[in-house]
Amino acid sequence: MEKENNQQLIDIIDLKDSSLSLDDIALIANDDEVRKRYENKYGSHLYAKILLLLTHESYGQDEAKSLWKKIMCHLNDLNHKLGRNVGISVATLDYLSNIRNKLSTPVIIEEDKSIFVSKTTTKDELTGLYLKTVFDVVLKQHIEETNRDNTPLSLLIIDIDDFKSINDTYGHLTGDHVLSNIGLSISDCARKMDFPARYGGEEFAVIMPGADTAQAFKAAERIRKIISQLKFIEFNVTVSIGVSQANRKVDTPDKLIHAADTALYEAKNKGKNCVVIAEQHNNGEIPVRHS
Ligand code: GH3
Ligand code: MG
Ligand code: MG
Repeated sequence: MEKENNQQLIDIIDLKDSSLSLDDIALIANDDEVRKRYENKYGSHLYAKILLLLTHESYGQDEAKSLWKKIMCHLNDLNHKLGRNVGISVATLDYLSNIRNKLSTPVIIEEDKSIFVSKTTTKDELTGLYLKTVFDVVLKQHIEETNRDNTPLSLLIIDIDDFKSINDTYGHLTGDHVLSNIGLSISDCARKMDFPARYGGEEFAVIMPGADTAQAFKAAERIRKIISQLKFIEFNVTVSIGVSQANRKVDTPDKLIHAADTALYEAKNKGKNCVVIAEQHNNGEIPVRHS
């Protein structure tokens, strides 16, 4: 059950990032050329995406592809019997609920994906970055992929320096304004495959699939520099950043987070406004957090 919920969350994040609409799906159903174009664009995810959009339920890639073929046959059948084009939404609903008994709950197919997708909150309002709950799901998925495929995976944990004194001196609203701008800067620096999240109050995290420590360090330096150059009315803000990379020993979300957290603590100790890479011997050990 948890796995299904996690998969649906990941599918929804995908959907939010994609530009697939109901009109596109209708075209995919009616035109082979269009279908091929979308297959090239989305690869094996295409049919799972389409079915999620139409039914609000998650299907595996293979199951989705085979269901799609059957739904297409059903659509042709219905069109032929009724003498008109009933449309892909109706054919899907009819096939899954009346023929396959596949839908667990009665589904209302939305006119627009935004209604469905926007009901699922994945981002923090103030910073525009992903929520911690979503971060947890995505990090787990990436760690599993890295353990399986041996691809690099790095993590940044970013903490604003002396943020309490900004709140104390300029007020909470100004503090919020700073958080919002830092969220934007982190988003701007992120590559398309990176996953930036608000990790806690004034802490952020960026999952960097495919990046080794050196690449993650460069990205962290870029973020640190850009934030230090932000102009607030009477003050400047800096951040400290810890960088960790998954490896054979650091093979769980907790270990990767702890390694980055230790490096962050070291960055604070070094005088803040700097980036520290988790040392190999620290990796995997659960550090004591002094704060
Ligand atoms: P350090 O350099 O060691 O990180 O010091 P710090 O002052 O940044 O850290 P500390 O943990 O002492 O303070 C964090 C502050 O962040 C305290 C808390 O009130 C503030 N904070 C957390 N969430 C929010 C928020 O959403 N808005 C505002 N304005 N402040 C927040
Ligand atoms: Mg903090
Ligand atoms: Mg702080």
